[in-house]
Amino acid sequence: MTRAEALERLRTRLRAAGIQPANQEAEWLLAHALETSVSALWKDKTALLDPTQEDALEALTRRRERREPLQLILGEMPFHHVTLQVEPGVFIPRPETEELVEAVLEALGGDVVDRGRAPDPRRLLDLGTGTGAIAIALLHALPGWQGVAVDRSPLAVALAARNAHRNGVGERLRTMIGDFTSPASAPWEPDGPFDLVVSNPPYIRRGDIPGLMPEVRDHDPVEALDGGPDGLDALRQLAARLTAWLRPGGHLALEIGADQADTVLGILSPHIQDARILPDRAGFPRIAIGIQRSGDA
Ligand code: SAM
Ligand code: GLN
Repeated sequence: MTRAEALERLRTRLRAAGIQPANQEAEWLLAHALETSVSALWKDKTALLDPTQEDALEALTRRRERREPLQLILGEMPFHHVTLQVEPGVFIPRPETEELVEAVLEALGGDVVDRGRAPDPRRLLDLGTGTGAIAIALLHALPGWQGVAVDRSPLAVALAARNAHRNGVGERLRTMIGDFTSPASAPWEPDGPFDLVVSNPPYIRRGDIPGLMPEVRDHDPVEALDGGPDGLDALRQLAARLTAWLRPGGHLALEIGADQADTVLGILSPHIQDARILPDRAGFPRIAIGIQRSGDA
């Protein structure tokens, strides 16, 4: 079987399994099976797969047909300007979260320009860090900053630490196990308030979880998705404790569900100045951003 034939068969199988975009995914899977890159794949379309490669491709294809996420099969993924390892049991970062990172960098504006001159390093807190995606992408873009990344999942915290080192920001990111809903379990608090708090908390309505795509429902940990009856349990808990974590004048940025904007503004407005909702690339209101009111206690 040639590479071109393998790709055609693969596309047909992926489409039959309901996977979109089948063309792109087929190329990624074939490149992975051949241990090469997508661009190198096409240097010789007529090259034959050897039996080991055919077996490898068959095994990968079966995993994807069973709707295992592509990122888990490939083992790593690009996120903003970093590359993250992903593994079963830890939430797979989404493209819209890259837009949260961009929105933060834009909101910080002058802070980014001033980074080398700040007297003390500025500090960020990422609540529910998962793979470390948001904290690592931000520290990568903000060389003068340090950060704390927290998750209640020990698996996530271990992965975030590895990802931080792999992307060269391990010295600037402390990773810790902690629960942001429990005052007794906030080991990052003694270090004082942060200049920036970011979070992509669980925000799916519990009742909506069974209807999610199989890749999400069967592979992302439910603790990463389940936001309680209206999806906003975690966000309410987080908002209630913001004053302990965010210094007056500090920035907040949260990812939210597309139909939660008005409720989220109501929850944040007692604590956050100029709380605003920004659209994601598809135009959905998915990013809540603002500055903590000075003197709010
Ligand atoms: N920030 C990562 C990202 O954007 O890819 C992960 C986001 S995922 C939607 C939510 C994460 O929050 C999960 O890793 C979950 O384990 C963690 N989490 C949920 N509730 C938490 C809590 N009360 N305290 C700490 N972490 C929590
Ligand atoms: N974006 C995820 C999804 O649509 C949900 C992430 C979250 O709950 N924070 O499945």
